[in-house]
Amino acid sequence: MQIIIPKQVEEILAGLRADGYEAFAVGGCVRDTLLGRVPGDWDITTSARPEQVKKVFGKTIDTGLQHGTVTVMREHVGYEITTYRIDGEYEDARHPKEVAFTSDLKEDLRRRDFTINAMAYSHETGIVDIFGGMKDLKEGVVRCVGNAVERFTEDALRILRAIRFSAQLNFTIEDETYAALTVIAPNLANVSKERIQAELTKTLLSDHPERILLVEETGMSPYISAGFHSVFGTNIGRVREACMRASGLPARKSLRWAAFLSYGGEDCAAQILKELKMDNDTTDRVKTLVRWFSEELQEDDCKVREVMSSMEDGRFDELLLLKESLLPEEAAGTGRIRKTAEAVRSRGDCIRMRDMAVTGKDLIAAGVRPGPDMGNILQRLFLYVLKHPECNEKEYLLNMGVKKDTEE
Ligand code: ATP
Ligand code: MG
Repeated sequence: MQIIIPKQVEEILAGLRADGYEAFAVGGCVRDTLLGRVPGDWDITTSARPEQVKKVFGKTIDTGLQHGTVTVMREHVGYEITTYRIDGEYEDARHPKEVAFTSDLKEDLRRRDFTINAMAYSHETGIVDIFGGMKDLKEGVVRCVGNAVERFTEDALRILRAIRFSAQLNFTIEDETYAALTVIAPNLANVSKERIQAELTKTLLSDHPERILLVEETGMSPYISAGFHSVFGTNIGRVREACMRASGLPARKSLRWAAFLSYGGEDCAAQILKELKMDNDTTDRVKTLVRWFSEELQEDDCKVREVMSSMEDGRFDELLLLKESLLPEEAAGTGRIRKTAEAVRSRGDCIRMRDMAVTGKDLIAAGVRPGPDMGNILQRLFLYVLKHPECNEKEYLLNMGVKKDTEE
């Protein structure tokens, strides 16, 4: 069976073979290509040792020499080339304490997590499928290579990867593998929060974000963090519903996390994202969305401008999307608010201090004393303009500002 691989990959494989080594595309890229999905990256596995790989290509980057990985750049894309290896005992969730190189492709495939991720491919050999990956791909099954409890014991991150692949590929988790998720759940306590977060994020961004509920169903959530577990507390019914509906939202980190965290309140969302080492930008966005999600938005122009002015551009539309997806019963009201927001934008109503017709400089030129009062005057003028956008005129506001100043 012949599959289409990028010409850069073909050339890299050919380069290694020309020097007498075995070389294959391996793992996620083979899986995704067979499924008709576009792989995120192309990983290569080879019998050549890292020093030998370096010799073949001349210019390489040492990405993870101790794990046998070097990277070759082709047209600004990196291709990781990893020597066939057998992993020793795992030190943390990701890195084996020691790796031993091997000359046997089969051994390298055996160390991989799931059968669907344990296939290799080259044009010359075709698909190398020792553990039944093709069958599981066809049947839509996530199954460990070998004994599930043992494989998850080596690296507990794999239990979250099982859920993530089931969400991304819409696969079921095979029974023995599923049972082992529960057994190994406590081991998540030793997995780094960054890596946990990355898998949860991938799950939420998939076509089946509701699979994140498996984290509760299998008993993993308390071992992710105390805050995270609390999401499934009193509001479990609504959280389930929100997760089911989240697939209707664009696959954006802030939106999907906000949907998941929508019923716990802003502080809880902030705490969870902090525990999970989420980046500040996403955390801020989620906080804004969760804060306003629980507020009832008013339809009138002035209130809509007020809320729009309190958040970054674009966030208001995300808020409406969130409300529309999670609260379809309120769709009529949200629709009217959207129309109001569109009108505010098309009229160009001032909703930002920087868009006011008058600046601090203008006020000083008109005789207002510079100093702390200046900020207060500008703030008052801005609130006035939010209520009366038709008054966003320089002369008018200057008059108001100067009068206020001399009155005080
Ligand atoms: P994606 O790139 O879409 O996240 P992927 O399957 O390519 O999915 P990677 O994390 O890029 O996942 O890993 C590449 C391959 O390395 C996997 O397909 C799998 O064979 C192996 N692998 C990755 N992480 C693990 C792990 N924790 N345990 C065992 N094998 C793993
Ligand atoms: Mg990958």
